[in-house]
Amino acid sequence: MSNVFLQSVEKVYDQAAKLIPMAPGLDHKIKVTNSSYIVRFGVRLRGKMQTFVGYRSVHSEHFEPVKGGIRYSLDVSLEEVEALAMLMTFKCALVEVPFGGSKGGLYINPQDWSEEELERITRRFTQELAKRDLISPSQNVPAPDMGTGEREMAWMADEYRRLNSIEINAWACVTGKPVGKGGIQGRVEATGRGVQYALRAFFDHPEDVKKTGLTPGLSGKRIIVQGLGNVGYHAALFLSEEDGAMITHVLERGGSVVNPKGINIRALKDHMATHGSIEGFDGFTGSGMEMLEEDADILIPAAMELVITDSNASRIKTPLIIEAANGPITAEADEILTKRGTVIIPDLYANAGGVTVSYFEWIKNLSHIRFGRMQRRESYDHFSAIIQGVEAMTGKPFPEQQRQHALTGSTELTLVRSGLEDTMREAYANISREWNTNPDVPNMRIAAMKIAIERVVKSYGSLGI
Ligand code: NAD
Repeated sequence: MSNVFLQSVEKVYDQAAKLIPMAPGLDHKIKVTNSSYIVRFGVRLRGKMQTFVGYRSVHSEHFEPVKGGIRYSLDVSLEEVEALAMLMTFKCALVEVPFGGSKGGLYINPQDWSEEELERITRRFTQELAKRDLISPSQNVPAPDMGTGEREMAWMADEYRRLNSIEINAWACVTGKPVGKGGIQGRVEATGRGVQYALRAFFDHPEDVKKTGLTPGLSGKRIIVQGLGNVGYHAALFLSEEDGAMITHVLERGGSVVNPKGINIRALKDHMATHGSIEGFDGFTGSGMEMLEEDADILIPAAMELVITDSNASRIKTPLIIEAANGPITAEADEILTKRGTVIIPDLYANAGGVTVSYFEWIKNLSHIRFGRMQRRESYDHFSAIIQGVEAMTGKPFPEQQRQHALTGSTELTLVRSGLEDTMREAYANISREWNTNPDVPNMRIAAMKIAIERVVKSYGSLGI
């Protein structure tokens, strides 16, 4: 199956690359993965030597460090990691994050191991990666992905620091760390938040909304979400609590929850934390994948790759799909959906919020200062003076709500969200322009890939290649 994923990504690349004039052979060089590393390492656990298999692929080093998550899953394979590394190269280029593309994985089911065991395995894996500079603030910076999170990143950073005790930038060796261990406010929510900003940007382009036949605005839209993990949970939470959308279906391992009036996402997540699954929650049904085909306005696959294939694509009813997960739609399914007029906001763009905020975290680690720390008091004094001036000139008190807003100043979180929203809006505007003005570009996926490849080509060009 993971071959199918790699082939799907390569097919999109080929289609977009054809539209760009390039020096002979350059399209092939940009397409191929630079290097892939497979490590088999042992950890003594439960009275015996257990062998684990890990991967780290570097797709492109046109910018360094290279960047990409590390996933823990039994679906991990070399082809899957290479497909994801390739996506990372173009994702970073699309949102103008100056990193090359990489990705890693460990063939493991995290649920099979205790926290203490996982820590030992993760530290050992880190040692293997560090030996080959596959984790390093200047060369290769991993991040969380499926099955990993802040906890694993903190272990990795700590292990790297132990191995490199005089490296002043050691904390910048991974992103997605807890805030107390060199992380940044807003990283955990970043990918889901980016999905929300992407949808807001989409609905702010009436010419694009028209192609779906949907009414304007996110409010009241019925949404199906697959996977209530890091990405799916935050996207569903923000869209329902802040934009008035209704999450009518949630698909998770072991079944689905359905509520035509909108599911309380916070309550469902609490239920999952307490009971270990969605079973027993109000509206629970044992149905699985077929729920993707239900009637709704927007579909958000946020779990894993290859969930919409040529076998179910023709039954998908939502006129808009936003790929929060990487590679949820195969190339064949993409063709079927595009022919039917379904609008797809592609993974390359839709889930780029994570790497964007990872970039902010990396900069924070290198600068050794929290964003906003130098400016906040100065900005308070500045706005206080303006408010006092306005009050003196008019003889009226400044409206309280605006006063509070002006005087709160910029916190790290507000700055991160502002940088992320700006990035997502800017990238959307570029994709939409390309899609709407270039007759050779059939959909947003090719538009996004074309913009990204052009940037990589330019970067090679400036090196004289
Ligand atoms: P996660 O492990 O936090 O969540 C995945 C969720 O999907 C889990 O709740 C799991 O139970 C559920 N799931 C697994 N198999 C399922 C199935 N067959 N049906 C329904 N639900 C299922 O992972 P995540 O970090 O949220 O990543 C999800 C996707 O988003 C992946 O494709 C990942 O590559 C992509 N992504 C993640 C980030 C990030 O910052 N975490 C960034 C970019 C892209």
